[in-house]
Amino acid sequence: MMIEFSPVIVHVDMDAFFAAVEVRNNPHLKGKPVIVGGGAGQRGVVSTCSYEARKFGVHSGMSAVKARRLCPQGVFISSGLRGYVYVSARLQQIFEKYTPIVEPFSVDEASMDITGTEKLFGGPIELVEALKQEIRDQLQLSCSVGIAPSKYLAKLASGLNKPDGLTVLDRDEFKRIYYPRPVDALWGVGESTKKVLAGKGIHTVADLASTDSKLLKGILGKNGEGLSVISQGIDRTKAVPYRERPHDKSMSHETTLGKDLQDPTRIKATVLWLADKVARRLRRRGYIGRTISVKIRSHDFQTITRSHTINHPTDRCDVVFQQAMRLIPKEYGMKIPVRLLGVRMSQLIKIRFNDQGDETLNHKTGESVQLELMVNPQEEEIGRLTEAVDAIRDRYGEKSIKLAGTLLS
Ligand SMILES: [Mg+2]
Repeated sequence: MMIEFSPVIVHVDMDAFFAAVEVRNNPHLKGKPVIVGGGAGQRGVVSTCSYEARKFGVHSGMSAVKARRLCPQGVFISSGLRGYVYVSARLQQIFEKYTPIVEPFSVDEASMDITGTEKLFGGPIELVEALKQEIRDQLQLSCSVGIAPSKYLAKLASGLNKPDGLTVLDRDEFKRIYYPRPVDALWGVGESTKKVLAGKGIHTVADLASTDSKLLKGILGKNGEGLSVISQGIDRTKAVPYRERPHDKSMSHETTLGKDLQDPTRIKATVLWLADKVARRLRRRGYIGRTISVKIRSHDFQTITRSHTINHPTDRCDVVFQQAMRLIPKEYGMKIPVRLLGVRMSQLIKIRFNDQGDETLNHKTGESVQLELMVNPQEEEIGRLTEAVDAIRDRYGEKSIKLAGTLLS
């Protein structure tokens, strides 16, 4: 297809990402039905599975019990495995060689606005082919790519010819392919929405596109309007790179202290308490973050902030705490009494989705996976401890456990 549209948006989606990374790291798994999630003794659901496993009917979001029944010969690998995030960061670096406008969508997907830059590579298709080759050469992984005039269409296109696909989807092509399909062929339309629409006689995407948007709003609320626009193949949202993401893409916690702190031990304890709050929120919402910031207000209302970006994004309290402590200038507490302390995480990456997820409507990656780069047994220990603490708090409430160091705060 000739590409005559503008902007030119590319959506990259890694093929069976977690499973592919496992197969790459363990070549003896090649050609086998590999199922990540629900490993030995684990309940829960399948995160990702290889294409060999999909032939048995296994898919993301399926219970591990069912997956085992369908595919008893499957190689089940427990999630919570290291390395995915590292690969994700490498991918981001590769994407940024092609355009500065890269918007991470999840750990293995990103949108890129290549308008203009594609000429440097000969054209959009040539650019995408070079990108796919680079990912293959550097990471030994394959991806599927959609090229379209909008983020939404590019995302849809990336899913049309998996694995190793390259699909161009303009608005006319979208109508041709999607209009006859049921409404849940659209990304973001799930079972419940499908049911509600069916009750109103709206079954296909064409039905949806021809329904008045006010009527849809009446049926589905605010989402109805969005769906109306999307069903017509229109999407005007722009790809927003990391650095320019809106401010709400951060999580922070701060506290004004009962009395000005001059004791470094108490400052440390308070920072640990704040780091714990922020890290806990990251984990609950399924994010990891790259940039840690601290905010310090002294007794005379002078406020400073300091930031540092780490190589491996994290959701771990101990990492956030250590980085935050390094950012606080030594004279605070010692010479300058501190009135307020805050810790913020930004440059967040969504690594986990659930059905009630704030960002997605219908993206099931299944099990709640902790994606952490654990490089030594001691860290692994902390990871397990973190999980255990989370589990207790989920059951008994936030205040049920306090980290030892924060008792001072
Ligand atoms: Mg993927």
